[in-house]
Amino acid sequence: MILLDGKATSNSIKEEIAAEVEKLKQQGKKVPHLAAVLVGEDGASQTYVNSKVKSCERVGFDSTLIKLPASTSEEELLKTIDDLNNNDNIDGYIVQLPLPDHIDENKVTLAVAPGKDVDGFHPENVGRMSLGLPTFLPATPNGIMEMLGRYNIETSGKNCVVIGRSNIVGTPMSILMSRNTNPGNATVTLVHSRTKNLAEITRRADIIIVALGKPKFLTADMVGEGTVVVDVGIHRIEDSTKKSGFRLVGDVDYENVAPKCSAISPVPGGVGPMTIASLLQNTLKAISLQH
Ligand code: NAD
Repeated sequence: MILLDGKATSNSIKEEIAAEVEKLKQQGKKVPHLAAVLVGEDGASQTYVNSKVKSCERVGFDSTLIKLPASTSEEELLKTIDDLNNNDNIDGYIVQLPLPDHIDENKVTLAVAPGKDVDGFHPENVGRMSLGLPTFLPATPNGIMEMLGRYNIETSGKNCVVIGRSNIVGTPMSILMSRNTNPGNATVTLVHSRTKNLAEITRRADIIIVALGKPKFLTADMVGEGTVVVDVGIHRIEDSTKKSGFRLVGDVDYENVAPKCSAISPVPGGVGPMTIASLLQNTLKAISLQH
């Protein structure tokens, strides 16, 4: 069984990016600058944003963290976004989701300049992805593609089941896996909360990408021998034996599923670090679009 080690893979990507940044510096060029906007005090969001900013520093990018209180109005946030769109010093930026209930996420996504949308959420970038045109690919699905590619996982002609149809993971994942690329060229089935006989479908899969947000949802009886399983879910489960009081689990019942797999990504240390590496790749790409 191959462990799809997202931590080690993302470290290799970060080293490659750091070498690119060093080249830019030696040529006297501007280094990429990523900004992150965080609205409110959500604990998980703070952790994600801090780790994105820290990763920027590690590869030599400039980074700016804009922290706004939960009481920030939609108008104020849109003004911040407009400022970032017009700030030539910022090459790309993200607005960490979820946003407080009084702010319309769609309005925010539409306000981000497509050329700075390193999360790849703007409809123009989603459209470009669907057409196979150069663009920013959404970080989590692209991180998974990168992981499958670097581990030489054969995807062409394989039956790939994606569980979950969210705009940021499941739906773009299904598009990327079905495109005429390598990795890609898979026969994709996108299953969701209304799917009937889900276990029958997953048992026939060669590759299962699990992104539905339910701890240990994918169990051993739902998986055939030799399957490749990629676990996107992240959940904090109370655990008094840990200093932090919790441990992280994914959407896959890892202990029981792993023995049946030809390859599997763990949680933590799988898709999470790949998402950050992918965001850094997009930010490096942004600099060539801006200058
Ligand atoms: P979401 O809640 O937006 O979407 C969940 C999807 O799962 C929905 O489309 C729904 O139809 C489907 N679903 C729900 N119940 C189902 C069922 N019983 N059977 C089949 N499908 C079902 O979730 P999301 O934003 O895509 O996130 C999914 C998980 O991935 C969460 O745990 C999230 O924390 C995690 N996540 C991790 C990363 C990372 O970097 N590792 C990034 C994004 C999300």
